[in-house]
Amino acid sequence: MSEQGRDHPGARERLVPGCDVCAALLRQRADARRVGDHGAAQAYGRELENHPHPAAAPR
Ligand SMILES: [Zn+2]
Repeated sequence: MSEQGRDHPGARERLVPGCDVCAALLRQRADARRVGDHGAAQAYGRELENHPHPAAAPR
């Protein structure tokens, strides 16, 4: 398993398991935060909340 739970995202995002976009954005945001680029981190956070989920079928 990979490291999870080290970086608390704020519990605002609704991450969809198996969504490549979510995974990519999470990594990019973590990277941005790591280098102190908070503007980019926020942008990625927004994308996380806004990008569509075609297969996001609730229940
Ligand atoms: Zn997603």
